[in-house]
Amino acid sequence: MKKKTAVLGATGSIGKNTLDVLRGASGKFQPVLFSANSDAAALLKLSKEFPCAKLALTGKTKTEDNILSGLPAGTVFYGKEGLLDAIKICGADIAVNGIAGAAGLVPSIAVLESGADLALANKETIVMAAPLVFKKAKENNAKIIPVDSEHSAIFNLINAHGREALDEIILTASGGPFRNYTIEQLKNVTVKDALSHPTWSMGTKITVDSASLANKGLEVIEAARLFDMPGEKIKVTIHPQSIVHSMIRLSDGAVYAQLSRPDMRLPIHEALNYPAVTKSAWGVLDFENLTLTFEKPDYKRFPLLKFAYDALNAGGLWTVAYNAANETVVHAFINKQISFLEIPSIVEYVLNKDWGGKPDDLPSIMDADRKAREAALGVLC
Ligand code: NAD
Ligand code: MG
Repeated sequence: MKKKTAVLGATGSIGKNTLDVLRGASGKFQPVLFSANSDAAALLKLSKEFPCAKLALTGKTKTEDNILSGLPAGTVFYGKEGLLDAIKICGADIAVNGIAGAAGLVPSIAVLESGADLALANKETIVMAAPLVFKKAKENNAKIIPVDSEHSAIFNLINAHGREALDEIILTASGGPFRNYTIEQLKNVTVKDALSHPTWSMGTKITVDSASLANKGLEVIEAARLFDMPGEKIKVTIHPQSIVHSMIRLSDGAVYAQLSRPDMRLPIHEALNYPAVTKSAWGVLDFENLTLTFEKPDYKRFPLLKFAYDALNAGGLWTVAYNAANETVVHAFINKQISFLEIPSIVEYVLNKDWGGKPDDLPSIMDADRKAREAALGVLC
């Protein structure tokens, strides 16, 4: 039987990689839902290729759209609520969540409530609401399978070696385009510079986060929550080649690593096929001419990594605030309202407020998210 598959954020970087995996899987998967925020034309194209799939356009109402309006009744869903309705009725066995930012959280919850497994690229889901989403997964007997390449690596390594002997997680980071920049040089970097990632091709927001190491900060929090490890047991090492996607150290001292080319299609393929390991054309590594290097991250030049550890250790709603403040100021940087070095200083200002509380229910989480955005915007105005 074909695995019914929903692709949330189908027009983005993760979405397009997922479509490549689905196309390469010779009919093993049946797409049942594609979502996008604004690109109706891309959804129309997908509906021609996969005519049975439902479509959700979250950023528009029916009256604002004249591209999808000719499709059969019941095919197109509009707005945020429309996406949740589509998730509920599409009958997916698994959903890949490649929505960018905090907007991915509620759809993740809807996927789990529908009983479908969640192939999770949207790290914000875990950073904002791990206890809540784990509860939803348990109640609905649904699995959360990490797609973020580092977490996919760790997930597979733990599955292979067992959780009991796990002593430490070592997350790798490319270091981004500014790895060797001095603070003086960082003062003048542009959006274009920040978007020139040396090894990965990704969406705009995550690419800026990779340049500031906020992405690694979010991933430290994601790893701590997904694998139930304290912050001090999660190390980050800068590995510019992006070949080792992460490592685990067992209590006997042995370190195990996952290696492959930097290609998101491999972790997506693995998540969609989990627990089976099936043949793929993605990530095949050529060892000749390969040099692997590792460096210590520098908190002075990249303080957002340290702030993520601080937020994780502080608990409460601090990681919600970290994500919301960072998301807000990264958009301001992309819109050329602030400089690159103002990103960490505004996030630090927001994190210095009180974010105590429990991340157990959606209203509390969304309230902290909104307040942190307001606090960051207050600095921008
Ligand atoms: P992207 O910007 O390329 O694509 C985002 C997708 O989400 C698009 O389809 C867009 O239409 C949709 N979207 C945007 N705003 C939305 C909203 N408000 N409501 C609903 N849908 C919305 O982003 P991306 O690089 O594919 O990243 C997506 C997620 O995956 C992020 O959480 C990112 O951290 C994570 N991730 C990405 C990569 C990667 O290689 N791109 C790797 C690991 C993790
Ligand atoms: Mg990653």
